[in-house]
Amino acid sequence: MVDVGSMRAEAEVRKGGSPAENRLRIAELYASRQGEGLWTGSPSVFLRTSGCNLRCWFCDTPFTSWRPEGETFSVEQVVQRALQFSEADVVVTGGEPLIFPAIEPLTAQLRSAGKRVTIETAGTVDQAFHCDLLSISPKLASSAPPAQEHPHWHAQHQARRQRPDLLRRWLSEYRCQLKFVVSDMHDCQEVLNYLQELGSVSPDNVWLMPEGTDVDTLDARAQWLQPWCDEHQFHFCQRSHIYWYGNRRGT
Ligand code: SF4
Repeated sequence: MVDVGSMRAEAEVRKGGSPAENRLRIAELYASRQGEGLWTGSPSVFLRTSGCNLRCWFCDTPFTSWRPEGETFSVEQVVQRALQFSEADVVVTGGEPLIFPAIEPLTAQLRSAGKRVTIETAGTVDQAFHCDLLSISPKLASSAPPAQEHPHWHAQHQARRQRPDLLRRWLSEYRCQLKFVVSDMHDCQEVLNYLQELGSVSPDNVWLMPEGTDVDTLDARAQWLQPWCDEHQFHFCQRSHIYWYGNRRGT
């Protein structure tokens, strides 16, 4: 399903053909089903950019953050490949897709072609884009990498991980879902505090997802998280793709 190989060959042919602001680094491009949030279950093309301005310790795509992989392609090349799939949804994810200025023409062209576009972001980079759903996953304090092991990234991560100013603007301009990854009740309290700081966010736009990359961990955390979400009228968000496919790349 991964479709980056032939793009790489084309990129070699066209090397130097388009300016940096029209290019994105792509880790993978494949068809699967959306596993999280409002449109869970929708057949979707996943367009995963490579590179991130954060370094969550639990990152489930380290090949886009801690050890970024992938070739750089023009917007036109990426759109052409994405449109070869018949799925109506395109999920632009990462890494952090908003680090690329090319996200604006990319998402404009995908929507012009009739695709329903979701952007998945940590919500820390002020970039222009177009989407039908902005899926924002703000990072909590517990997401930071250990300070002793990664002093540089620990400091960068903590300084960058939340942009309430940006989120307030996006919440007023786009259809948004806020998706928090939590490990314990301390994280849940931080979610409540952050929502209060943001102001009027409908609980219907808030999703809480257990941290974990295996079914046993997710099941154990669902035991206490699901009732807590019910109590606060938030959505409990399971990581359905782990149940469907396991923690595998290209799914
Ligand atoms: S923001 Fe996302 S891609 Fe970046 S390090 Fe955190 S989990 Fe990984």
